Amino acid sequence: MGAAEGLMIVILLGPPGVGKGTQAAIAAEAHGWLHLSTGDLLRAQVAQKTDLGLQADQYMSKGDLVPDVLMVEMVAQHLTDVSSEVVILLDGFPRTIAQAEALSGKAPSGSIALSLYFRASNSELSSRLTGRGRADDTEEVVAHRLKVYHETTSPLISWYQEKGILVEIDANRDIASIQTDFAHAVDSTLKGFSQITG
Ligand code: AMP
Repeated sequence: MGAAEGLMIVILLGPPGVGKGTQAAIAAEAHGWLHLSTGDLLRAQVAQKTDLGLQADQYMSKGDLVPDVLMVEMVAQHLTDVSSEVVILLDGFPRTIAQAEALSGKAPSGSIALSLYFRASNSELSSRLTGRGRADDTEEVVAHRLKVYHETTSPLISWYQEKGILVEIDANRDIASIQTDFAHAVDSTLKGFSQITG
């Protein structure tokens, strides 16, 4: 993806409604990390009615995944733009094994250093999802997004576990406790990472 050396990519995994976007935004602001949310990028494209936005909207409104080729290209473009020595929180990507493979193939060697898996109980998830008021948060679409998550995205948990970079975060707790674990996981990975690349 032509991204700069010294880049550390943190992949955020977890079901819709687990709060990883909120957590990523807070952590990015607090620590000067970069928050790259593919859902936010797509929603901006939809709002601007770009070609990508018009295509993506057909999938998003139903709770389906936007095709891998479009997603890989969009993320690749953003990674090319980032400067070196930065931590990127990748929120919402990869969502399929094919996307994960594309990322591994194109990201700078060794840059994918950590994957944080946010885990929450089903009752906690449904109460969070219904409280958001997003266009794709109707009951029917939410149910479909959860199904897509379980079928297509959740295999990534064992995929990154096998690579030895997965850290699980208990997301049933309050925001502050989750932030503490989040920062700790990133900081300790960053320490080992600087020793290798630095
Ligand atoms: P999110 O805000 O991450 O829940 O994403 C909202 C919607 O954008 C998803 O339901 C998908 O339709 C689409 N989307 C976001 N990221 C991806 C991705 N990596 N692959 C495919 N579709 C995505």
